[in-house]
Amino acid sequence: SSITNITIVGTGVIGNGWITRFLTNGYKVTAYDPAPGAEEKTREAVRSAWDYAGKLGLKEGSSEENLTFEEDLGKALAHADFVQENVPEREELKRSVIASIDEHAPKHAVISSSTSGILPTVLQADCAHHPERVIVGHPFNPVYLMPLVELVGGNKTEDSFVDKAREFYEGLGMKPLIVHQEIEGHIADRLMEAVWRESLHIVNDGVATTEEVDASIVYGPGLRWALMGPFMTLHMGGGKAGMRHLLHQFGPALKLPWTKLEAPELTDELAEKVITGCEAQTEGVDMQKMEERRDDFLVELQQLLEKYWP
Ligand code: NAD
Repeated sequence: SSITNITIVGTGVIGNGWITRFLTNGYKVTAYDPAPGAEEKTREAVRSAWDYAGKLGLKEGSSEENLTFEEDLGKALAHADFVQENVPEREELKRSVIASIDEHAPKHAVISSSTSGILPTVLQADCAHHPERVIVGHPFNPVYLMPLVELVGGNKTEDSFVDKAREFYEGLGMKPLIVHQEIEGHIADRLMEAVWRESLHIVNDGVATTEEVDASIVYGPGLRWALMGPFMTLHMGGGKAGMRHLLHQFGPALKLPWTKLEAPELTDELAEKVITGCEAQTEGVDMQKMEERRDDFLVELQQLLEKYWP
């Protein structure tokens, strides 16, 4: 591909995950983050993620040494072929950072934002030069292991840049999903939000604890969701005649729950209940160990997925 140099703007949780993914795939990465100590934190994060990312396959020439930090944004962008923006999720900040990236990056460079919720049309609005190369490339944490990346173009985006990004992300072993219509939160986060909202409602009403809600997913739908989404799950729930049977048989009953789902208010009291619930679940547990367990599991799960869903 025509992409050699990558620039990362913002090196927090997500920026560092991208850096690891790019480096283990053999790319040269230049990073920019004005926070004091950012470089040290990034190098530490990359080091601790490296072995996990490597289990998905290290490309030839990959090295932690292919990472350079720059203190000047213009310098960081001077040779960029691809820019991944990961600054905090605040609209005004993102708009102005993306406008500066547009000012400094060569005009062929793709500018991809990791935003979880903001529309690309909004993000590219202040770009005075080449807004047509601004897209959303929304990843999932930990970026060095999760394959999904949602790609969304705005009103001014040219399709060729979405295509270029898709090809590039595929080359990193990812599964790009093109979202054809802009919508806040894109696709996967909206689905997760629906489950999160109902989880809060259940805890708020004292129906179940945070631990019980988690168990209901882990030992139930979560196991199936690792292999198939809501549509195939229900299609199979309809037996041999699939979704056709399911919707005819249960149509009216399926609609009923939608009238019962609630959107609770996130009061201080509910927040406290959720926080103490989660803290009780992890009492005496080392969070670093939990991360390692998550990463080991994600690697093996993806190997299983490839075996059963090639
Ligand atoms: P974070 O707070 O961990 O990191 C943000 C980083 O941006 C910090 O290191 C900060 O110093 C830096 N920063 C602030 N202003 C900057 C500027 N002007 N220029 C360059 N860097 C600047 O946040 P995060 O969780 O990594 O989220 C970053 C983006 O990724 C957000 O848009 C978020 O919606 C998205 N995202 C987050 C997750 C997640 O699970 N955390 C998942 C997918 C997408």
